[in-house]
Amino acid sequence: MTQAAIPAVGEPIRIPIREIVPWAAFVVLLALIVLYFVSTEQGALALFSNSYVHEFVHDGRHLLAFPCH
Ligand SMILES: [Zn+2]
Repeated sequence: MTQAAIPAVGEPIRIPIREIVPWAAFVVLLALIVLYFVSTEQGALALFSNSYVHEFVHDGRHLLAFPCH
């Protein structure tokens, strides 16, 4: 009877969480800013007085089913 080969087990892959967290927080911040401009930038909550931002993201608003007009 032969003995079954035992597969070699390498070292586990290390995921550098401490290096990823600041970048993840930065990406979340950027995503929230983009979400604000796509969803809310118009009317009473507008940061800019003109409607250029609203018109620029207008198709995105309708694509994501945000109320518009
Ligand atoms: Zn619209």
